Amino acid sequence: MIAPVNLLLIAGLAGVLSLCVLGSLARSGMAGIRETIRANLLTLLAFFTFGLQSTAAPLWLSVVVPNSAIALALCSYYAGVRRLMGLDVPRHLMTLGCLVALVVLLGYTYVDWQVGPRIVAMSLLQMGFLLAVAITVQRNMPTHRSRYSYRFVWSVAMASAAVSGARAGAHLLDLVPPQTLLEPSIWNIAYLTLGVLVMPCLTLGTIMVIHDRMLADRENEANTDFLTGLMSRKAWWMQAERYCAQALRTRRPLTLLLLDIDHFKTINDTHGHVAGDAVLRHFGLLATATLRTGDHVGRVGGEEFGVLFPDMRGDAVMEVAARLLDSVHRTPCSHGGSTISYTFSAGIAEWMPGENLQVFFERADRKLYAAKSAGRNRIVGPGGQAEPAALQAVA
Ligand code: GH3
Ligand code: MG
Ligand code: MG
Repeated sequence: MIAPVNLLLIAGLAGVLSLCVLGSLARSGMAGIRETIRANLLTLLAFFTFGLQSTAAPLWLSVVVPNSAIALALCSYYAGVRRLMGLDVPRHLMTLGCLVALVVLLGYTYVDWQVGPRIVAMSLLQMGFLLAVAITVQRNMPTHRSRYSYRFVWSVAMASAAVSGARAGAHLLDLVPPQTLLEPSIWNIAYLTLGVLVMPCLTLGTIMVIHDRMLADRENEANTDFLTGLMSRKAWWMQAERYCAQALRTRRPLTLLLLDIDHFKTINDTHGHVAGDAVLRHFGLLATATLRTGDHVGRVGGEEFGVLFPDMRGDAVMEVAARLLDSVHRTPCSHGGSTISYTFSAGIAEWMPGENLQVFFERADRKLYAAKSAGRNRIVGPGGQAEPAALQAVA
């Protein structure tokens, strides 16, 4: 039978490997990494000092230190998970739980030497932290992304909580003899085999979650226009492809509104590029507030924007675009003490069944061009009629 001390040694090596991988992620700046590193260092300390139980080491070193280190390691891991999910860490509650377990540990070590109650107290504390980890992960699983890594952490935490609970129950009911960890019994070997894997597995799960979060951040950056916070051209185009496919499937209408700020070059030349940027941001805010379809507004060119309206016909979109032009007239952009008034021109096209996005976009672009040719500051609808600003105020 493998000696318990060998299991601790193997687990210690797995912990060192985990620390190496965590170290490579430390500079990513993701929340929760520091706490997970601390959890692994404490676990290594616990394994090392548990190993001292086979020597003549004093009780404080071979019993109090390792048990406290395990409690603090789980505490730290839980704090890391909460920080990774962007949540507060309930420090007072965690400290209270650890203190209660420590008092029981000290009492049954120095006052009344009993292994059983010590095991029950520590197992219950571990079960509490592991359940808290599982609940936190369960409640914060992403809705639009793969949940694989979250489910992995949840499964490890739940399985480990079940093992800790079973251990506490078995000792409470006197089903197993109370033995210190390094006595080579079948119970200790079984418990250690599962127990030593907990922190490496949880750490592996955290690393997977961190990678998923980093990927989500990069995707978000790629899909968002840096200046306006609207969708980037690529993300908007992919979304538009999906809308076309959906319209084909459901035979529901789909309308495209293309907008271009008028004489934007002149705004840049008169007020400077920084002011031009402020106008673009201002327009982005007005568009999302007025159109209330924030997800579908994209910056498709320098001062050109595209908005898709699933389930809406051209005449309804014409009214919405007129409302936006009206709010642009009423709300000029304030920048650096000056007020910059601007207008836009727009073209609207209704999707024709079977039409591909490129052709659909070009039709809307031709309407936009027609609005520019007709004098700007107006919208050309799907029928081709140009509506100058004065008419839209009435519409
Ligand atoms: P029109 O009414 O015909 O649309 O004229 P315009 O001046 O708006 O159009 P034009 O295509 O001549 O000029 C667009 C300008 O937009 C040129 C470019 O320097 C500027 N631009 C493009 N992207 C940005 C940006 O991110 N910030 C700023 N400040 N200017 C930009
Ligand atoms: Mg322009
Ligand atoms: Mg343009």
